[in-house]
Amino acid sequence: LENFPYEHVLVLGLAKSGTAAARVLLNSGINVIVNDHHAKEDAEIVKELHAKGANVIVGSHPISILDEVELIVKNPGIPYSNPILIEAENRNIPIITEIELAANLATESEIIGITGSNGKTTTTTLVAEMLNKSNQPVKLAGNIGIVATEVAESLETNDTLLLELSSFQLMGVHSFRPHIAVLLNLFEAHIDYHGTVQNYEQAKMNIFRNQAASDYLIFNLDDEKVTRAVKQAKAKLIPFSVRQKHIKGAWVNNGYIYFHEEPIIAQEDIVLVGEHNLQNILAAISVAILSGATIAGIKKVLTEFIGVKHRLQYVATIHGRLFYNDSKATNMLATEKALQAFQRPTILLAGGLDRGDTYEDLIPSLKHVKAMVLFGETKEKLKRTAEQANIKHIEVVENVGEATEVAYKLSDEGDVILLSPACASWDQYKTFEERGDMFIHAVHILA
Ligand code: ADP
Repeated sequence: LENFPYEHVLVLGLAKSGTAAARVLLNSGINVIVNDHHAKEDAEIVKELHAKGANVIVGSHPISILDEVELIVKNPGIPYSNPILIEAENRNIPIITEIELAANLATESEIIGITGSNGKTTTTTLVAEMLNKSNQPVKLAGNIGIVATEVAESLETNDTLLLELSSFQLMGVHSFRPHIAVLLNLFEAHIDYHGTVQNYEQAKMNIFRNQAASDYLIFNLDDEKVTRAVKQAKAKLIPFSVRQKHIKGAWVNNGYIYFHEEPIIAQEDIVLVGEHNLQNILAAISVAILSGATIAGIKKVLTEFIGVKHRLQYVATIHGRLFYNDSKATNMLATEKALQAFQRPTILLAGGLDRGDTYEDLIPSLKHVKAMVLFGETKEKLKRTAEQANIKHIEVVENVGEATEVAYKLSDEGDVILLSPACASWDQYKTFEERGDMFIHAVHILA
């Protein structure tokens, strides 16, 4: 750790990121208190951190531990309404997330940060692949599920550090300065955590707050909130747009994608579908080019990349039927996006946990839907919606496996068979991943 003036640090939350942060701090000879509400005294990791010299306190958050603390490294999931954090703020103890630590460890590397309400994982994955295919060394970390401090510690010379960043993580940065930042979009989200829309947007804006004129900020020109927010940035602004042409960034004309005036790829050669993914692609191309990727590398990725798993992921074509897995679509908005991606007859597989929603809002998006196969707690509600929308075939089944078989029987050549449940998975499945895997498995059996 460089220019790190703290000698007594509290690591709050012992998940993977907390553990890694504690290790880094201990290795730098800093006094560390680790505090976790849920961990057990006899857990392996607790014993290990004890042995390394940390003071590990589990089971509660006693306020007295703040007495000597100069800095808190907080797990992004812990809300600021936690009494110990409220007290820390009263005492003006700075609170950071591991992203700030990771950046401190990566001072020799170019840092790319990607945020937005939606599309983070897809865009970040695309950039990583594009740099890989261009033989540019890159290490991926952050909200994508890879602990940033761990990756930052093991960077080699020339490695770029590519970070997917959530608003929770960005809440806790003070001097973080990515050389290339991306702001994809700003929807209302996580108000329970941030308190207000303004706080949420301010957190997202931390991605560019410390940038200077020699840095780049890639932003969505089609998103009004984003366009307004980036006016405060000092970095060079690089817009992307699916509507405006001849801009000084990435844009689309007549089925072709351009960066500045350079043609990059024909849209028909791209495997990913949906306008939202086109936005992610434009952002990813901009980052990749600014970071030294080759056009050949970028093209190769876009002609092969089938999507991040469970996010409108292309699965297979069987006797002319195209199967897509969008199990991550746990709300109506995501399912609407998925349906808009297809102009051909679609069979929609939907249903899941009942949160008390009604589904009428889905009706306008059902115009290409010829059949709906429904499962889970919401199946009867969705059936009524399907009837209101005059969907030709409506079937109610027990689970995703059965839904896949029934959908296939109802299908014709050229149809899309889409799992995009519009509901969370927890009524029947442990996770949306398990639900998506069941779909993929059922498709493979059909094949
Ligand atoms: P995140 O990492 O931000 O959650 P993902 O790339 O995992 O985003 O995509 C999650 C879902 O968000 C997708 O299934 C899709 O429904 C929606 N989505 C993805 N990209 C965008 C975008 N650019 N604009 C709006 N919605 C999007």
